[in-house]
Amino acid sequence: MGKKILVLGELRDGALRNVSFEAIAAGKKLAGDGEVVAVLLGDSVQTQAQLMIQFGADRVIIVENEKLGHYTSDGFSQAFLSVEAQEKPDGIVIGHTALGKDLSPKIANKLNAGLISDVTKIEEGSDNVTFIRPIFSGKAFEKKEIVEGPIFITIRPNNIDMLEKDEFRKGDVKSIAVDIKDLRTIIQDVVRKTSDGVDLSEAKVIIAGGRGVKSAEGFKPLQELADLLGGAVGASRGACDADYCDYSLQIGQTGKVVTPDLYIACGISGAIQHMAGMSNSKVIVAINKDPEASIFNVADYGIVGDLFEVVPLLTEEFRKIKA
Ligand code: FAD
Repeated sequence: MGKKILVLGELRDGALRNVSFEAIAAGKKLAGDGEVVAVLLGDSVQTQAQLMIQFGADRVIIVENEKLGHYTSDGFSQAFLSVEAQEKPDGIVIGHTALGKDLSPKIANKLNAGLISDVTKIEEGSDNVTFIRPIFSGKAFEKKEIVEGPIFITIRPNNIDMLEKDEFRKGDVKSIAVDIKDLRTIIQDVVRKTSDGVDLSEAKVIIAGGRGVKSAEGFKPLQELADLLGGAVGASRGACDADYCDYSLQIGQTGKVVTPDLYIACGISGAIQHMAGMSNSKVIVAINKDPEASIFNVADYGIVGDLFEVVPLLTEEFRKIKA
């Protein structure tokens, strides 16, 4: 029998993040013959609704309210729970993003539902669905099933393939009013630390620098390569601690977890805490002067050499291919 799955669309700067479409694809797997209902929360989100339909949602429910202009767990949980109460879904899918990590436990608690977080793969059996998620900083994977109550999962960005966009797909879009009580947190200002580049957690290509990059200036060739490949620059904590770059670029156990198609680690030794954030990347290239560096143990391709010679050479070669 088909299920009704509620999926949260996540916006940044007014545009939907890719993880929203991946959540729809995950929702489709869980819904079977049922329906995927996308939820959009914000102060002006109407324009994004059709995109959710085009990527596979059957219906979209919009809650617009000035109190939802900035994310707060207080405001978003009130709005989402109100939609949940009206729709009574069999399952919920939210992205395992900063927003999702904050919001989902709160909702799970209110619904008294079990939550499987950070799902990277969904396996559909004949009479059950299994969720696969990394544990022990990505060193092992566990398989989980929900045997009772609603399905509630968060999905790691960049792991579940989104469906192909269908410009002609039609679906119902409905706005509902939700009375949001006074918020306990008021966001007065948002200060951006990173430039308007590609979002690190959704980037398909990441060029990451470590302490071997030696200075903020040393990140320039990495940025050049990232720009050429339409990717983002990331960093080890070593590089952040040394003040070569901002902590918002940190990848690892206490930084961002990323799964790009291509991860190029430049001057990064490969500490376990760094690998926790990048070892699930599809293809890993390591550039390091030290042939014994641990990063080579997880690399698909290793280049022993000086990053300041190798990175510009790579950029030059990619530029020729792209020309
Ligand atoms: P280093 O270990 O100093 O390595 C620099 C590398 O650059 C060396 O391998 C060297 O051979 C190479 N190199 C130098 N010059 C060149 C050159 N010209 N060309 C090519 N290679 C060169 N770390 C993270 O990254 N992310 C985390 O989230 C994180 N969380 C942590 C949490 C905890 C609780 C703790 C204790 C640590 C955490 N760390 C984290 C820190 C981690 O243990 C390492 O200290 C850190 O990752 C090292 O950064 P690095 O590889 O850039 O520096």
